[in-house]
Amino acid sequence: MVINLINAVAQSLNFLGLGEGFIKLALPGEEFYDLDDIYDVFSSQQKKRLTLLLPGYGCAWGKCTMCGFGKKLAEVHRQYHGLLRIEANDFVAFCRMAIMLSVKQQPQWLYVYNGGSFLNVKEIPLAAQIAIARLIGQQENIDSLFIESRPEFVNSLSLARLADELKGKTLEIGIGLEAFTDRVREVLIRKGFSRGDYERAVGVCKNRGVKALTYVFLKPLGLTEAEAIDEAVRTIEYAFEAGTDEASLSCAFIQSCTPMHEVYLAGKFTPPRLWSVVEVLKQTKDFGPVRVGSFDDEPPPIAGPKNCDVCSRSVEMAIGRYNLSRNLNELTNVSCQCRNDWQKEINNQKSPS
Ligand SMILES: [Zn+2]
Repeated sequence: MVINLINAVAQSLNFLGLGEGFIKLALPGEEFYDLDDIYDVFSSQQKKRLTLLLPGYGCAWGKCTMCGFGKKLAEVHRQYHGLLRIEANDFVAFCRMAIMLSVKQQPQWLYVYNGGSFLNVKEIPLAAQIAIARLIGQQENIDSLFIESRPEFVNSLSLARLADELKGKTLEIGIGLEAFTDRVREVLIRKGFSRGDYERAVGVCKNRGVKALTYVFLKPLGLTEAEAIDEAVRTIEYAFEAGTDEASLSCAFIQSCTPMHEVYLAGKFTPPRLWSVVEVLKQTKDFGPVRVGSFDDEPPPIAGPKNCDVCSRSVEMAIGRYNLSRNLNELTNVSCQCRNDWQKEINNQKSPS
């Protein structure tokens, strides 16, 4: 279920004691929270998830070749330049309102996405970080908080501040390693950190009892389909060796105004085939729990992972069922004529004639 922000704000404004600037701070007409079910690897059961999209200042890094968040947030801030400044209280109010509006559904997980690093005080003020954690600590139904961060903001202090407020609830941090190979991560994706940086961050999480989820990117610019599969498999294997608790496969989709978009428009890049997604899941099944990230995002992708017109929908739905059950049988039962073409293409790329 998705709630339109404007309606939600209109209902809640008086209650929260917030003014018009607060409404304008949100993306007009767009959703700021969502409710769905996820598979919780820590309890091996499905749980209800509340996802909150915080309209923050966006990712301070903003250089990755596939990412469109920065452009979107810049656009929003240009639109409302001078009208408002996002204060720590505003972030907390968003969180409080999403919790309030989802109280009937009793979510157990809260996922907070801010299109960047939650732990970076320049993106989410420290006071807001602490107040959001405190708010979650006080919610009876919510037992786990998920945030995202680049490794450089993960340290003992930044984690301890949140953990203290969470009162023993689970904290999980999503870290975008994306690729094992340095050239792929640093040159093709422009991630701007080393495997050593990643390992240090995961180590700090381990020491602090914080769970780590590692994002792995399937099909960066500059890799063939076959190379992209191999890179994702190697990256997932490495992430579990480094101590991650979960991996999430981020499959390339095209967002406007990104380097990936330009190459796509020039006809030199396509997002991965869904068979490649299935292949990575099959090859990594023994490494640890791997989920598949959403093919939808904000701003909405122009193109995403797909197969042929006949099977795309059913394979995508099978991936969705896999995400909820983590049962690989969901994926081995799907078939289509186009799988043979995909297999041929992969074989050709592996042994070019
Ligand atoms: Zn097909």
